[in-house]
Amino acid sequence: MAQKLAAGNWKMNGTEASLAEIDAMLAAYPDPGCGVLICPPATLLERMSRRIGRGKIATGAQDCHMNANGAHTGDISAEMIKDAGGAYAIVGHSERRTDHGETNEIVNAKAQAAIGAGLVAVVCLGETLEQRDAGETLDLVGSQLAGSIPDGATGENLVVAYEPVWAIGTGRIPTMEQIIEVHDFMRARLVERFGAEIGKSISLLYGGSVKPSNAAEIFAVENVDGALVGGASLKAADFGAIIDALQ
Ligand code: PEP
Repeated sequence: MAQKLAAGNWKMNGTEASLAEIDAMLAAYPDPGCGVLICPPATLLERMSRRIGRGKIATGAQDCHMNANGAHTGDISAEMIKDAGGAYAIVGHSERRTDHGETNEIVNAKAQAAIGAGLVAVVCLGETLEQRDAGETLDLVGSQLAGSIPDGATGENLVVAYEPVWAIGTGRIPTMEQIIEVHDFMRARLVERFGAEIGKSISLLYGGSVKPSNAAEIFAVENVDGALVGGASLKAADFGAIIDALQ
């Protein structure tokens, strides 16, 4: 059984004052009935991890470098994320694929680095509107899945997030039929590659304009094990309502 997970991606948002949202979440969810993860900007990762302490909310980074250390100005390695208290690393978010030219090969190497350092890699994939309109969604998702996920992935070290690029931050979400089609397809491909036991244990998140008002409908889909949430993860009240819909 795949773990249920509500994951928040704060993107380039948040300063010291934003940690009050974590205090509110810890107070409201001392023992959540599903996995809860927040990925703040790198500047807040250590502070947030310390603030949570022994609480049951995990933290993670929004990216990691494929190398453990070296001359890579501005980058952060998986070992450093772990050292700062993080347990997860998002890799291959569409904003990184677009803004930083990250290919499936690069995402695969980053996922390997994350897993090698003992983190859980959250591999993101999803089609653009042009690709969906051209009927290429499953081909694209299939090749991103094959190319971005390293061998040796398991339900313990990998989470996959399907995030249609056109649904991120736009308020638009796919129809439930479209979500079902892609999530069933991803599950089948993972089972084909890793076998039934591992393939079924990998959490599949949906991401793209998840809000308190649509979370329950999305979570009712069989192969949706949770969500990767951007904007609605910034406020404890909104993210809390999404956790409530999942747990
Ligand atoms: C994201 O960027 O991962 C995301 C899903 O953003 P939003 O929820 O704001 O659409």
